[in-house]
Amino acid sequence: MTDAVLKVALPLPLPRLFDYLPADGATPAACDIGRRVHAPFGNRRLCGVVAAVGAADARHAEALKAVQWLEPEPLLDGELLASLRWLARYLHAPLGEVLATALPATLRRGEPLPDTRAWGWRLTEAGATALPAMRAGRPRALAQLVAGNVRDEDALDGLHPGWRAPMRTLQSRGLAERLVLSAAAAPMPTAAPFALNPEQQAAADAIGGGAGFAAFLLDGVTGSGKTEVYLDAISDCLSRRRQALVLVPEIGLTPQLLARFRARLGVPVHALHSGLNDGERAAAWTAAWRGEARVIVGTRSAAFTPLQDAGLIVVDEEHDASYKQQDGIRYHARDFALLRARELGVPIVLGSATPSLESLHNAQAGRYLHLRLRRRAGDAQPPTVRVLDVRKRPLQAGLSPELLSAVRAALDAGGQALLFRNRRGYAPALLCHDCGWSASCPRCGTPEQGRPMTVHAHGRRLQCHHCGYRQAAPLACPDCASLALQPQGTGTERIEELLADRFADVPVVRIDRGNTRRRDALQKHFEALGSRPGILVGTQMLAKGHDLANLTLVGVVGIDEGLFSADFRASEKLAQLLVQVAGRAGRAERAGTVLLQTHHPEHPLLQTLVQGGYHAFAEAELALRDAAGFPPFAYLALLRAEGQHAEPPLQFLAAARRLFEDHGIDLHGPLPAPMPRRGGWHRSQLLLSSPDRRALHAALDAAVPRLHDLPDARKLRWSLDVDPVDLY
Ligand code: ADP
Ligand code: ZN
Ligand code: ZN
Repeated sequence: MTDAVLKVALPLPLPRLFDYLPADGATPAACDIGRRVHAPFGNRRLCGVVAAVGAADARHAEALKAVQWLEPEPLLDGELLASLRWLARYLHAPLGEVLATALPATLRRGEPLPDTRAWGWRLTEAGATALPAMRAGRPRALAQLVAGNVRDEDALDGLHPGWRAPMRTLQSRGLAERLVLSAAAAPMPTAAPFALNPEQQAAADAIGGGAGFAAFLLDGVTGSGKTEVYLDAISDCLSRRRQALVLVPEIGLTPQLLARFRARLGVPVHALHSGLNDGERAAAWTAAWRGEARVIVGTRSAAFTPLQDAGLIVVDEEHDASYKQQDGIRYHARDFALLRARELGVPIVLGSATPSLESLHNAQAGRYLHLRLRRRAGDAQPPTVRVLDVRKRPLQAGLSPELLSAVRAALDAGGQALLFRNRRGYAPALLCHDCGWSASCPRCGTPEQGRPMTVHAHGRRLQCHHCGYRQAAPLACPDCASLALQPQGTGTERIEELLADRFADVPVVRIDRGNTRRRDALQKHFEALGSRPGILVGTQMLAKGHDLANLTLVGVVGIDEGLFSADFRASEKLAQLLVQVAGRAGRAERAGTVLLQTHHPEHPLLQTLVQGGYHAFAEAELALRDAAGFPPFAYLALLRAEGQHAEPPLQFLAAARRLFEDHGIDLHGPLPAPMPRRGGWHRSQLLLSSPDRRALHAALDAAVPRLHDLPDARKLRWSLDVDPVDLY
């Protein structure tokens, strides 16, 4: 083929490839597929990936420009490239954007492959001299850690979470230095495995027993020892000289978890998460690509880790919403991991105490092997759950006298209490008691429907939790000038204030996104509490990942709004959250109690959960979904459009709807989104659904390419979300 050209996928929102020739004059060949190139595009230079080699496209017969190779071999090839092509087709997204999403940021920008040697730190001579005179604080504590011996970076993660910034400060002052560790210095396991109990052993045997692709739903109550089963399967995978990929939710990738993996496996464990800088992420990705990384533990985007000799994929807390990317390329990391396991021919374990209804349905249909762990591991007992009816009870910061005395009793017995309220801030709204005005976000509210702003800082500041807009709280009502402005309801800050006052003898630690943005902040909060009697107050950040041996009481407040949400997934999310939070109680020897405070004690969701547990709830909920024709019994795609005014998005979607008609799928809309305005944008949506996945995708195949040609397609922001999780 003398006239073959390179067909390059560029990171552009256009559903096509672009023709180029290699600048070195070489003849394009199939072995070039997957190689990165620098491609001239207009007056820019883009980093793209060769997606195909073939005849030049006659429709775009401009003079062919030349690309520079970035490295001699393909970066994306084999299984990963095939899976990404599939993902692009499934999401109806441009291949170039999908490939760019799969690459770590530095590689996406065209930077060279990074160094992947293992690094450690030690004090320089200047550092050793300066150490005795250093002031107390993090730099000194770190300097002490690396005085006299080299510490590898993995060990520092465990010893001193958040060490990187202060260490770089030491380095910039010439006090500490970074050096390459010899490859021979592989760590030895420092912790022996538990003897698995019979349920764990049965699960481990099932996972280890097969060859090739198999999907397992490891459905085990909180504290049942799922992580031990993963570790067993990973050890087995390592002994077969294969790589293991473990996905965990954003909030679950704690130093505690990494330390547990490192202590047990005896190989370096590569972490991939948002706390790393771009260079560190690229290094972990590249180490996996080179086959050096044997165990990779990462959050959502780690689903794109290249695996040279894959042996196992684990998705922990598979129900977790953080696996779904909510902007750009809207992939679902769990679902992509399933696809990869199939392509790779390896087992995949989906673990959860509260499996998603999708996964339970798949297990019932026989697509996954359902493994149950019904009891807590070791000696821990399941917590006792009680519903507290608070109708007509006097509430302080939303807490009933019964709950407050249960907290007192738990503290007096030497235990800790956790109060869960899924609203951060001081109060969810600011209201004028004289005229009824309430503070609404100017960027998210509409004249018909205001968006309350959350009160922060004891009433001094207002903040919108949808768009981030902030302003000082007014001193007087803007409508009637009254001074009777009152925070309405309770958020975590207000609860913290009350508890600090009522229980002044113990520490009260608040954990929510307001004060826990950095990865190591969470760890610090737990350290501040220690194991002495004390109280934790917080949002769903508290729902998972932390073993607090002394936690004996969990109080859940303010869940009633979740009981009556219009979103068809709201019940599932609430049930999962309640069970996960409840699962924090009594994880060790001390028994746990959970109190659910509500004004709706008879609500079927609460009744079913308390009496029958999560699986009784899930069965009832699946029956409702089936009757209503919702997932997992139907497949959805959501076309969203946003504009500066309300009308153009609706018009665009009306034109889009005409493209989807006559394809035998159900169309709902166009309608204003449940949140019709956000951050100044007017939002509308068109929901497509079908009980037949193939019918839905046939319609998408036919219509989506034509969406790009609709008259307003370039004037609006629009996006397609296949299998949306949030209909907002
Ligand atoms: P999960 O991941 O299901 O929440 P973990 O694996 O974290 O559960 O285990 C919960 C607790 O039980 C941990 O403290 C763990 O060390 C302990 N554990 C797990 N398996 C066993 C076992 N077979 N024997 C004794 N203790 C165990
Ligand atoms: Zn007023
Ligand atoms: Zn807003």
